[in-house]
Amino acid sequence: MEQLVDSHARVIDYLRLSVTDRCNLRCVYCMPPEGTIPLLHNDILTYEEMVRFAACACAAGISKIRLTGGEPLVRKDVEVLIRRLALLSPELDLSLTTNGVLLSEYADILRQCGLKRVNVSLDSLDPRTYAQITRGGELSRVIAGIESALRAGLEPVKLNVVAMRGVNDDLEPFVRFMHEHPVDVRFIEFMETKTNVARGIRYFIPVEEVERRLAAFGVLEQTNAPVGAGPARYKSLQGALGKVGFISPVSSHFCPTCNRLRLTADGKLRACLFSNHETDIRSLLRSGASEEAVIEAIREVLQAKPKDHGLTIGGLNRTMSQIGG
Ligand code: SAM
Ligand code: SF4
Repeated sequence: MEQLVDSHARVIDYLRLSVTDRCNLRCVYCMPPEGTIPLLHNDILTYEEMVRFAACACAAGISKIRLTGGEPLVRKDVEVLIRRLALLSPELDLSLTTNGVLLSEYADILRQCGLKRVNVSLDSLDPRTYAQITRGGELSRVIAGIESALRAGLEPVKLNVVAMRGVNDDLEPFVRFMHEHPVDVRFIEFMETKTNVARGIRYFIPVEEVERRLAAFGVLEQTNAPVGAGPARYKSLQGALGKVGFISPVSSHFCPTCNRLRLTADGKLRACLFSNHETDIRSLLRSGASEEAVIEAIREVLQAKPKDHGLTIGGLNRTMSQIGG
């Protein structure tokens, strides 16, 4: 099996593929209220182009692909993309990150098309707070989506919760939810971006604090990570049906073990979430480049993958929804 190794000896085996820059929500930490200027139809990679790129990436050593966005489920016929990606290899760990709003309609078909599992972003279990964070989202639809994903066997289902001080840091509802649903809940540190800082949205809580506060609800113990654990640390929580994860991009860099590459919906390859350096893969694909040429471009991008990000986040040239988080 081929391997992709960057210039800091990290093995890169994980591709985040952004399917679209569009979204049906406007989360306060991710997008401005008016949204972003959508990419032109012609600028977005076609499914054929995404699959061609993914095939090259897999031939070079990528073994995990996560579809993201924007909201991946708002792109028409996304199941067609999933079916084609799943056909690349039965071993491919194919997953999707979604806000869950459309998940109840899609869960069965996604599973049938070869999707293995889903992460659902859900920052509050209170309908009003959820609507405020997402600027209009309906909590009941997301809960229905999570339950459909569990029934469809898209497991492990992981919930991503961006921890926000004074907004969603009452942890009791999440604990109750974990007693009732077999889901892993991962608390992620709020990352400041140009978009949220400009609006004075500064809610950061270190996940260590979330962990200390969770301990009031039951014994937390070291545990094995579930499938596709990524940069999260996991603990078991007494009485919970799933595990609790902690992701700390801000307070403790996970750069030394970073295994990721990102392709934006308009075909720009990024070696680091927080580096604005991008390589234009779309032009390469549209020029009819061979598999070898595409793999060579991936290797070049990896040679320039920074050792760490230094979190100069305020300087990001795109919103999280345009990069894929
Ligand atoms: N729309 C999908 C969703 O919300 O799951 C996929 C795209 S979203 C950009 C991917 C992830 O990025 C989500 O889990 C979201 O919570 C996270 N994210 C976006 N902006 C963030 C920020 N400023 N700080 C921390 N996480 C953020
Ligand atoms: Fe949309 Fe996901 Fe960003 Fe929320 S976090 S605005 S759901 S892309």
